[in-house]
Amino acid sequence: MTGKCLGAIALLAVLASPAVAQDAKTVIGNAAKAMGSENLTSITFYGSGANFGLGQSNNANGAWPRTNLNDYVRSIDFTQPASRATAVTWAAPVTGGPAVQGAFQQNILPANNTWAQQLEIWTTPWGFLKGAAANTATAKAQTIAGRKYTVVTWMTPQKSPSGQSYKVVGYINDQNLVDKVETWIENPIFGDMLVEALYSEYRDANGLKYPAMMVQKRGGQPTFEGQILGVNANPTNIAQLVTPPAGGQRGGGAAAAPAAGGRGGAQQVAAPTSEKLADGVYRINGAYNAIAIEFKDHIVLFEGGPQNEARAMAIIAEAKKVIPNKPIRYSILTHHHFDHSSGLPAIVAEGATIITQDVNKAFLEKALNAPRTLAPDAMSKSGKKPKIETVAEKRVLQDETRLVELYHITGLPHADGMLIAYLPKEKILAYADMFNLPPANDPVPNPPVVGTGVFEQNMERLKLEPERLLSVHSLNPDRLATRADILKSLGR
Ligand SMILES: [Zn+2]
Repeated sequence: MTGKCLGAIALLAVLASPAVAQDAKTVIGNAAKAMGSENLTSITFYGSGANFGLGQSNNANGAWPRTNLNDYVRSIDFTQPASRATAVTWAAPVTGGPAVQGAFQQNILPANNTWAQQLEIWTTPWGFLKGAAANTATAKAQTIAGRKYTVVTWMTPQKSPSGQSYKVVGYINDQNLVDKVETWIENPIFGDMLVEALYSEYRDANGLKYPAMMVQKRGGQPTFEGQILGVNANPTNIAQLVTPPAGGQRGGGAAAAPAAGGRGGAQQVAAPTSEKLADGVYRINGAYNAIAIEFKDHIVLFEGGPQNEARAMAIIAEAKKVIPNKPIRYSILTHHHFDHSSGLPAIVAEGATIITQDVNKAFLEKALNAPRTLAPDAMSKSGKKPKIETVAEKRVLQDETRLVELYHITGLPHADGMLIAYLPKEKILAYADMFNLPPANDPVPNPPVVGTGVFEQNMERLKLEPERLLSVHSLNPDRLATRADILKSLGR
C-alpha cells in the first residue's frame, strides 16, 4: 500500500467514526491560543440582554418569561474563583400593568462552591478551557450537523448530593473557538437538568476572542441571553469588581424568577400547623398553604407539592395527622409554576396521583420521568413513576361523604392551565396566584388588577358563590377572603 492509500483509509475512518480520541492537552492548548486566553486570569464583559424565569412560563409548553437587562456587566476572577454580575432590569409584573425597573445582581463568592453557582464561571468559553486544563479532560472529534467539532469533556471537583462529579462538555469548532458548553445540575422538576451555554459571533478585543452572542438554556429554553459589546481582559481592579458592595449583599444567585425551592430550603420549613375549615377540611398553613380534604376512604390534597420535597413531606405528614388512617389518593396542582410544583416528586413517592389541567400534562410527564442521578429524590428512591390525571374544564371528585369540584380558570395571563377547587356544600374555594387583595384601607386599584377581574369573570361564568376564599399565598393580614372583598377591590 502506498502512503497515499493509508492516508485515504485514515480519512475514511475519521468520517465513519462519530468519535475519535484526541490528545486533550494539545486540543485545549490550541483552543486557548486561538481564543487568546492563555494569560487570562480575570475578565469583565458587558452589554445588554435578558434573564428568563425558569419554570415560570405562562404556558407549560412555552418559553420562560423574559426580564430585560440593560447595562449588563459580568466580572470573573478565575483565580479565586469569584464572579459578580449586575444589570438594570425591566419587567412587567405578573398581575399586569406597565413594566417596572429593578436591579439584578448575582454574586458568586469563593465560598459559593456549589456547581449550580460555579457553572456561571466555568461554562464561559474562557472558563471552560481553564477548567479543562485544571481537571483531567478527554477529547474526541465529532461531526454534528455537518460541522466538525472537537468535543472536550471534564468532570468537576464539586460533587452533587449523590456524590458524583458534574460533567462538563465543550464543543470546540474548526476555528478552535468554543461554540457550546453543556453541563447538568439537579432540579426538583427536571431531575438531571441540562444547562447549555451557546456562544457565537466571535469578535476580537486586543487579541482576546469573545462571543458577541451568549445564550444559556435550562430545560431546553433560554434562561439568559446577552449581546456582548465588549470585554476587558485582566482588569486591574478585578478584586473590587467581584466584591459585592458593603451592606450585607447576600452571595449567591439573585435569580429573576421566584426561587423554585431547592433542597436548601429544607431547614427553613417550620413545622406545619393546620386549621379546621369545616368537618374533614383542613387548611395546612405555611409559606404555601395547602388543603387536606377527607373522603370516605382517602384524602385529597389541594396544592400538596409546592416549594420543595421537605415542604411536600411536611404537608403529607400533617394531612395524615389530621385525617388519620387514610391514604392520600390525589393532589391537585393549581398550575405548573415551579414554586407550586417542586414538591411533586414527594407526592409521587407517596403513591398519590397528580391532578392538573390538560395543558400541563405532557410537560410534567416528561420532566418528572427524567433521570435523577445527581440528587435522588423521594420519587426516584421509591421507584414509583408519576401518575397524572387531567381536567379539561371541569372535574368532580365525589363519594357519599364529599363533593369537590375542580374548574379551569380561563383568560388568566399568569398561567394557561390554572385550576381552582370548590367545595359547594362548605362554600369554600381554593386558588393560587390570581390576585392579592389590597390592604383594607387602600384605595381601589385603578386600573383594576387584571387577575382579580379574571377571577370574578370566572365566578360569574361558572355560577359559583363561594363564601370563603383560601389563597395558597396568605393574604396580608392573613385571612380567608370573601366575595365582597373581591368586588370591593374591583370598585363594585
Ligand atoms: Zn404562578
